[in-house]
Amino acid sequence: MIDVLYIAGAGRSGSTLLERLLGQLPQCVAVGEARHLWREDPTTARCGCGRVLTECDHWRAVIERAGFAFDAGGFEAVMSLRQQADRIRYVPQMLVPALAGKTYAHHQAAYTAALRRLYEAFHDVGHAGIIVDSSKDVSTLYLLTQMADVRLRLLHLVRDSRAVAYSWMKRIVRPDIVGREEYMPTFSPGKAAADWMVRNTLTEAARGRADGYLRLRYEDLIADPLATLRRAADFMGLPQADLSFIGPDGEVYLRRETHTVGGNPMKFKAGGMRLRLDDAWQRALRPADRRLVTAATWPLLRRYGYRRDGHRQPDEHTPVEVSPTG
Ligand SMILES: [Zn+2]
Repeated sequence: MIDVLYIAGAGRSGSTLLERLLGQLPQCVAVGEARHLWREDPTTARCGCGRVLTECDHWRAVIERAGFAFDAGGFEAVMSLRQQADRIRYVPQMLVPALAGKTYAHHQAAYTAALRRLYEAFHDVGHAGIIVDSSKDVSTLYLLTQMADVRLRLLHLVRDSRAVAYSWMKRIVRPDIVGREEYMPTFSPGKAAADWMVRNTLTEAARGRADGYLRLRYEDLIADPLATLRRAADFMGLPQADLSFIGPDGEVYLRRETHTVGGNPMKFKAGGMRLRLDDAWQRALRPADRRLVTAATWPLLRRYGYRRDGHRQPDEHTPVEVSPTG
């Protein structure tokens, strides 16, 4: 059985931070956004440890063990498999095999076999029981629900849609690319709002198909990292997890190096830091954009306990769901 904690939800919701924190637990191996591994050129993309992927011993061991070619051509080959099997447009075929023709079934089998080899290598090389994958994408999530040998814990991370939209508007240089300047993608407020709605809706819709579901709010993680991480650890079946890397005053100390792919600049941070809520959107998001995003996302914003004024209700702590087999 392959144990996976999959962090899902909209982009820019703080998954890189959450994953870094979970990666401090010796029972977990944080891998970053595994889905996005294949779009990278491994000779120019940097691992969370700071080295280029092909110069990182951890990734060298993982890729070798999984049996992939460790160069741009090898990654492109898996990427083209992924494009034929793991896209949001194929979710109906994943859920209703009768809809899928032989061709899709064949592509799905080929890609899930590649994914399985990768996950097994993460397990073996990371010497850890639970793989923490922060890919977030909905199509990968549904693909994982179809893999009988994956015990899938779904951690749904949500963040105020206005903060997310503001983050998507910023131009951020990708610090994990060496030798050329590349930017993280940007979205207009309307696109960010639509993306936030679709991803959160589809993530929630998958909860009954996973072996467990836990929803956390990013803002609660920042306000009380110890209590929030404790809930995540309990969800993973690790009630005894050592969370001593979080101080009583909420300062966190990242002492374990994580070998992650993708993610935001936070993935390179190490040592001690105080978590701070980034609420610049409250001042900097234009009133018209704020109104647009609030209106377009209001049903779910309200459901998750966010208010129009940007404050939030206390988390009602949705009970942790873990299926009897999980
Ligand atoms: Zn590394």
